[in-house]
Amino acid sequence: MKPTDYNTPTWVQWCPGCGNFGILMALKNAMARHDLKPHETVIVSGIGCHGKIPHYLNAYGFETLHGRPLPVATGVKLANRDMKVLAFSGDGDGYGIGTCHFIHTMRRNIDLTYIVHNNEIYGLTTGQTSPTSEHGFISGSTPHGAIEYPINPIALALSDHATFVARGFAGEVKHLEELIYKGIAHRGIALIDILQPCVSFNKINTYEWFQERVYKLEDDGHDPSDLNAARTKAFEWGKRIPIGLFYQIKRPTYGDELPQLKDEELCKQDIRNIDAKKAMEEYF
Ligand code: SF4
Repeated sequence: MKPTDYNTPTWVQWCPGCGNFGILMALKNAMARHDLKPHETVIVSGIGCHGKIPHYLNAYGFETLHGRPLPVATGVKLANRDMKVLAFSGDGDGYGIGTCHFIHTMRRNIDLTYIVHNNEIYGLTTGQTSPTSEHGFISGSTPHGAIEYPINPIALALSDHATFVARGFAGEVKHLEELIYKGIAHRGIALIDILQPCVSFNKINTYEWFQERVYKLEDDGHDPSDLNAARTKAFEWGKRIPIGLFYQIKRPTYGDELPQLKDEELCKQDIRNIDAKKAMEEYF
């Protein structure tokens, strides 16, 4: 597969200069390197600017309800483990409306790649304060500055037993491609939180703002097998912001350990001769 094989005829509607373009490019490159076939790949999104991504990729696609890509992606993967499933959210979708799904999917170690377009604002609805907006962030929804402190998705995922935790930057496409490539190769839940400038509504966290601050964990000698070091790095935010792979560990996935799915995945099980009478009598 070539990156252009994933193109679709749909006109990409994101604002010119949006960080989503860098994510889409890195994603297509990483998918091509894995030679992911469109009929073996499922793209699941939530609601928000990121939510259009199934329309822009030549693969199976499911644009779900707000905050719900993870439960839908979980269902797809458990039903058919031969499919490569990539789930997408924005910061509002994944770390606000869908926070409970985020927590439980991390600790279950579902075999998914979860990519979050984190622009620290609600972009689609024209710029309200989101769960990752900085404390004091001024917007139409917090004209006196955000009172709450932001969610820290990296720290949250680490404390929740996630087996692959990374952060990329949409302005560093090659580096991001490598993270997505590794995330797709990982067996288990792979979180890739992406710093994604929203050029139309977030005038604070711009490309320039990030470029002055981001540095690569691998250049700093970080060891991704060291959980304590990953935890320390997770709380680094301000003058220096780390990007790269924070943590990776091998662990059986939820699908590996679920007795009903151990031998045969759901979509291949022959259910024609199952006698449901006993269960029906018990419940009705
Ligand atoms: Fe991108 Fe922001 Fe435009 Fe949405 S509103 S497409 S996040 S620049």
